Amino acid sequence: MIIVITGASSGFGAMSARALAEAGNTVYAGVRDTTGRNAPAVADAAAFAAEHGVDLRTVELDVADQDSVDAAIATVVEDAGGLDVVVHNAGHMVLGPTEAFTPEQLASVYDTNVVSTQRVNRAALPHLREQGHGLVLWVGSTSTRGGTPPYLAPYFAAKAGMDSLAVSYAAELARFGVDTTIVVPGSFTTGTNHFAHAGHAADDAVAGAYEERYGGLMDQVGARLAELAPPDADPAEVARAIVRVVDTPAGQ
Ligand code: NDP
Repeated sequence: MIIVITGASSGFGAMSARALAEAGNTVYAGVRDTTGRNAPAVADAAAFAAEHGVDLRTVELDVADQDSVDAAIATVVEDAGGLDVVVHNAGHMVLGPTEAFTPEQLASVYDTNVVSTQRVNRAALPHLREQGHGLVLWVGSTSTRGGTPPYLAPYFAAKAGMDSLAVSYAAELARFGVDTTIVVPGSFTTGTNHFAHAGHAADDAVAGAYEERYGGLMDQVGARLAELAPPDADPAEVARAIVRVVDTPAGQ
């Protein structure tokens, strides 16, 4: 099968791209910037492909940019002669107390996790519909009901939106023989869960005020996340789940 996976520079995306290629598929690992920030990931994927003799290629695919998405899908279809599976894996989160989030931050989390999948669908679905088969797979989250741990509301809300989108599209796309599914991982210590990462923090000053008021709450959140993502939770299990879903015959 010919597969495109978004956000494949690291974490579940990179692991799944490799596992899918090892399973005999032609895999296009989408990364947002092949020559800049993702250049090491491109080199790693090429080295993996050469070492394991698998068909793993990278393609520039910035899910925030419709032109980039359109160009990537066109490249895949022309290069590989079709497209069978799309994996919506790209995502990001911002951590912080409610009053610290700007509407723009909430929108950016929603854009990467939800709106971006529509950019990819608009480019990819005409090909799947024309050929009368295919699979669209979203990488969601178990945390769609939100609540705990705190400070992650925009991310939980975005994953809930993704969940609804995936389920809502299922009946519509089934008419064209296109399957839709969502894989919902629990908590793992891959990139999205690096909550301490500076780029993931909402307004530090407001977060500091919360710390003063609620003393240690951020630490408690960190501890809770560590509990949710025990060090022995193997993210490769998510990649294996994605391979199993892709391998499952249509309609089952
Ligand atoms: P990573 O941070 O390792 O992966 C996120 C990927 O998304 C990166 O490759 C990142 O690229 C990419 N990305 C972000 N913005 C864009 C963009 N505009 N265009 C293209 N790619 C983009 O985290 P994970 O592997 O943990 O997360 C992968 C998915 O799994 C996400 O959707 C996440 O929400 C979901 N998930 C994660 C869980 C966990 O516990 N880790 C649990 C449940 C779901 P770049 O390297 O360029 O930043």
